[in-house]
Amino acid sequence: MSDHVFSGRSGAPVTVSEQSMSELRRALRGPSLVPGDAEYDRTRAIWNAMIDRRPALIARCTGAEDVARCVRFARRHEIVLTVRGGGHNIGGRALADGGLLVDLSELRRVDVDVERELAHVGPGATLHDLDAATRPHGMVVPSGIVSETGVAGLTLGGGFGWLSRRWGLTCDHLVGVEMVTADGDVVEATDITHSELMWGLRGGGGGFGIVTAFRFQMRRLPDPVTAGMIVFRDEDRAEAMARVRACAANAPDELGCLLRLGAAPPAPFLASELHGQPIAIVVPCHTGSPEAAERDLAPLRADGRAVADLVAPRSFIELQSMFDAGEAKGRRDYWKSEYVTELDDELAEILLEASRRLPSPSANIKLFQLGGAVARSPVGSTSAGHRDARAIVVIASSWDDPADDGTNIAWVQHTWRLVHDRSGRGGYLNFLTEDAVDAELASSLAGVDLERLGRIRRTWDSDGVFAPPGSDRAAPAVTRRGGESASPTIAAM
Ligand SMILES: Cc1cc2nc3c(=O)[nH]c(=O)nc-3n(C[C@H](O)[C@H](O)[C@H](O)COP(=O)(O)OP(=O)(O)OC[C@H]3O[C@@H](n4cnc5c(N)ncnc54)[C@H](O)[C@@H]3O)c2cc1C
Repeated sequence: MSDHVFSGRSGAPVTVSEQSMSELRRALRGPSLVPGDAEYDRTRAIWNAMIDRRPALIARCTGAEDVARCVRFARRHEIVLTVRGGGHNIGGRALADGGLLVDLSELRRVDVDVERELAHVGPGATLHDLDAATRPHGMVVPSGIVSETGVAGLTLGGGFGWLSRRWGLTCDHLVGVEMVTADGDVVEATDITHSELMWGLRGGGGGFGIVTAFRFQMRRLPDPVTAGMIVFRDEDRAEAMARVRACAANAPDELGCLLRLGAAPPAPFLASELHGQPIAIVVPCHTGSPEAAERDLAPLRADGRAVADLVAPRSFIELQSMFDAGEAKGRRDYWKSEYVTELDDELAEILLEASRRLPSPSANIKLFQLGGAVARSPVGSTSAGHRDARAIVVIASSWDDPADDGTNIAWVQHTWRLVHDRSGRGGYLNFLTEDAVDAELASSLAGVDLERLGRIRRTWDSDGVFAPPGSDRAAPAVTRRGGESASPTIAAM
């Protein structure tokens, strides 16, 4: 029997005796794994294969009681603790080398209270789990667009998708939580009992405790919605972008729209000579009446220039998994994002030009339309940044061979720099990669009172039990990644 070495919050290794470790593992109701166990490597894998970190212990928690035991253990030994919901965070926030991973991914239960229009959601639920429980009742919680994404991380960082313009961000629908605190206590929070905490939980990225149950206000959304892809060939891509821009200027809240620039996949609905060629895909989702959809989508579809038009009435749940195959788990992924005010000619040209130099067949640039209800809530009404942006640009690449890391990352960074220099805003908190530095973290929370966020974190977690490894809250003497000293505002968080 040998002792176990964890990463300590101070940055130095911490040795935990076999006896302490066994006591914890015996007390947990769920299974736990250490390096060398048969299922260890499969269990530690997350969506982005670029992240290859080895926790010292993985606790597959069965509920708040298990979570509380882990928190008390991590606190007592001053070791790094991380949390996994759906495991989709591209920067791999769920994993730390030598950390204690509180794995919530089995807690996927969703219960729907139709009368009160509330969804009670487990912390490991995916967007698919949420939709599968709510849609049979004609209800929905507005969320993201890839069904395997975790509800937990998405909500705590904001959460946008097809329904954001109509009803706002996912975090705007959060009405209550059950949370394990840094002391290992379990609290129920609502706007009546803990309004500051609730403000912080709505988009600021978490870090106050471990949420073991989410409660969301649902919306009524009858099926079908009018949605699907409209595909334009290379020579018509500028025109497609102009149409998206015109459409965005006049769009009702019922219309959400995504534009994707990339290479044509070998899909059966595209002529074979197009495969691999630059194309633009416009994906509208209209949740109004079929007549309103016909009217509002007409400018996008006009004059038959599209090489494929798959827009049709379809179930919302079908739309929610339309992009799953292209965003599969286990590839190497690198993204950068930037909120923008407008898709003007110059920005359109930057995006078009970059999309002619794709570093891999899956690399792409997406522009997701925001505004509507997102922007109608005042900046600062929750801890989500950039409420006033009109759209977000996401520059993404996905590949398999580590030898291609440099080319893919360089393309994303170079393209993002051009977009950022024009926009000067910042990106989405939930899309920050592991190499993001303080300035990017701060700019992702533009418009948010960082002092207030920091105050709430210090109130609920004065010792930095939930602080990211290497951050100033966890270990005051540590210099942050990227070699930059923490800025005063970030240090306050
Ligand atoms: C393919 C793909 C598509 C995406 N599409 C969208 C989209 O359409 N819209 C959008 O808004 N975002 C989208 N995202 C981003 C997504 O919101 C973030 O990646 C988010 O972090 C995922 O949450 P998760 O629970 O799966 O992540 P995890 O990696 O499990 O968790 C990320 C972090 O969130 C915190 N956390 C998770 N669970 C808890 C908890 N219970 N209590 C406290 N803290 C917790 C922890 O810090 C954790 O490390 C997408 C991501 C991917 C990879």
